[in-house]
Amino acid sequence: MDIIEIFKQYAQRYSQLFPREHLYTAIGLAVALVVLLLIPGDDKGAAVPNQSISVPVELSTVEDELEEATTAFELSDFVVMEEESEPAPEFVDEIIWRNIEVQSGDSISTIFQKVGLSDQDMFQLLNSSDEAKILDRIYPGYQLDFKIPEQGELEQLRILKNPLEGVLFTRSDNGYTAETILKEAQLRQSFKVGTIADSLFMAGQQEQIPAVHIMEMANIFGGVIDFILDPRQGDQFSILYEEKYLDGEFIGTGEILATQYVNQGTTYTAVRYIDEEGEIGYYSPEGESMRKAFLRNPLDVFRISSNFNPRRRHPILNTIRAHKGTDYAAPTGTPVRATSDGRVTWAARNGSFGNLIVLKHSGEFETKYAHLSRYAVKKGERVRQGQVIGYVGATGGATGPHLHYEFLMGGTHQNPRTVHNKLPKAKAIDSAEMDRFRSETASLLEQFSNLNNSLYLTINQPSAD
Ligand SMILES: [Zn+2]
Repeated sequence: MDIIEIFKQYAQRYSQLFPREHLYTAIGLAVALVVLLLIPGDDKGAAVPNQSISVPVELSTVEDELEEATTAFELSDFVVMEEESEPAPEFVDEIIWRNIEVQSGDSISTIFQKVGLSDQDMFQLLNSSDEAKILDRIYPGYQLDFKIPEQGELEQLRILKNPLEGVLFTRSDNGYTAETILKEAQLRQSFKVGTIADSLFMAGQQEQIPAVHIMEMANIFGGVIDFILDPRQGDQFSILYEEKYLDGEFIGTGEILATQYVNQGTTYTAVRYIDEEGEIGYYSPEGESMRKAFLRNPLDVFRISSNFNPRRRHPILNTIRAHKGTDYAAPTGTPVRATSDGRVTWAARNGSFGNLIVLKHSGEFETKYAHLSRYAVKKGERVRQGQVIGYVGATGGATGPHLHYEFLMGGTHQNPRTVHNKLPKAKAIDSAEMDRFRSETASLLEQFSNLNNSLYLTINQPSAD
């Protein structure tokens, strides 16, 4: 998948202008386990129609058992929650409603012309209320529904910025009254599992996991896993996340509720928790924040993933000479991120380092970023964790474009790959808040654990019968 596509998805998420995608096509891919709307079966569940879902399971790593593995298994432990179907929207009578989706290049004036209304009609509506200012700034994707019972006579206009938000104008004696439309999406849960064959990226794509969630998962674990160097073939991950529906139709992805990544046998689990101050964060089941003082790597895995294959490391870069740092091969121009909050103490040429940035962090930590093609910060500037400070290049003694990253503690070089174990423990939930954390996350964690167990079990023991 290319980067443009990812950012499109990212943008879509935040603008909420979603295409009408059908997520059900996701079911049935190789190694894909797509289970919609799962809630753990319990006593209450008996009241709900107990539908089971058939999920085809296929294993690319197991050969002989493959046949058996592809037989569907029943997730009868889980219940599909029936959404109440809402009455059909009343904006579709073809005779009197004209439904227009704003395209790029459209103006409100051309749209009014298209539905047979005059500029005068338009100005009358525009001047009718403050809410009508929405017409001055319409964007592609907006939905405009005109009720025109008789030629040239506008009775109602509904403008939707997205499926959930808009304004309804209704003709009154002296102009138009405006009514804000604010709908609430129904949230459903989706659970997906992936196995790394080539890259995190391709695994996500194969399971049809929205790229935005793969990126978020990588961000959530950004302090504990180096998603450029750590992933190995066979690593597994799972994500439980929300999806938004309106009138039974998928309108967009929601938040990650819990996620797990099993990296070379080590399991990392993160659960969403909204703390007493209302701050959303991700924590280990024991209440330790996933947000660490340092990111595990200074590059955004998704900016280099098209070239990234964990089985094809870059041996030349790693073995040229003894290293005081880590080399990340990446195309020239790949953004380089500050791994922690700090201050720029050097941003200039420095011998074989080429263009070098040095950051001083709190405590006695320093990080260095070498061979850059360009700088994005100046000496003396304060930077935040994750902020782009420069771009990958091949300046100085580099034989090819890569980032040379060093980590110093008290002036001494540390292996950035292992130094994280020496860092102070991450901020944890306050002991006074621990009860609240436990009660808020207990059922989610239990549900997540059940889902993981049943699906991993199925993957790992395909011929159990
Ligand atoms: Zn190097």
